[in-house]
Order: sequence, then C-alpha cells, then structure tokens
Amino acid sequence: MPALDIPLMAEMGEIIKRPSPKAERLWMNNDHKLVILWGIYRKWTMTLTAKKIGASEATVRKYKHKILLAPSLVLGLPIVSAKGPSQYQCRFCGEIRKSRKTVTRHFLHHVFPPEIADNLDLRGVK
Ligand SMILES: [Zn+2]
Repeated sequence: MPALDIPLMAEMGEIIKRPSPKAERLWMNNDHKLVILWGIYRKWTMTLTAKKIGASEATVRKYKHKILLAPSLVLGLPIVSAKGPSQYQCRFCGEIRKSRKTVTRHFLHHVFPPEIADNLDLRGVK
C-alpha cells in the first residue's frame, strides 16, 4: 500500500504504539492534531480518533469544532513536505505539486468541505 511510504504514516505508527502519559492527555501537540485531521480524511469515528491519540472524544470534538471556526489554524501544522525546489508533497496522500500553495489547497480538500477548502486565504503560505 503506497500510503505507508508517507512520512506522516510512519510517525503515526509511533504515536499509536506509544501510550500517552496521563499528563499528555490534557493538551495536544501537532502530531495529535494531524491524527485528528487524518481521522477526518479517513472518515474515522470520533471514538477511533480519540483512541489513536489517547484523548477523550470531547477533546477530539472540541478540536474539530475549533478548526471549522478557524480553518487557517491547520496552516500552522506540518501538512506539506518540501521534496525539492518545486516539489511539495501532501503528507496525507503523497501527491506532489509544484508549489506549496497548490498542495496546501489540495490538502485542505482532504479535511474540509469544498466551500472552506476553496476559499481559505493562503496569503501566508509561501
Ligand atoms: Zn493529498
């Protein structure tokens, strides 16, 4: 399965294997947030997503709500890998585009409805 070559999947394997200490359940780092986005992309249930990151369903629900209200928050996450001077890879499906902006827009379509993905302001993305 080609998806396994994507760096994010390798990282997620680590997260899934490593049980979160209780203190870590109170907050989320970028990896946890990416897994929540991955769950949206893969159409995981709230229960499964919560289990993968060792958080409560309420935490997952809260973060999903937060990014729907402020979708530009996801732009701060490592959603794109630079592979070369004009090679940017979507960290979810592995697709490569010539500009970071184009692949960012592509990525947004994995997690947001088209009306958000098509219209989010990407001026801050170089
Ligand atoms: Zn993609």
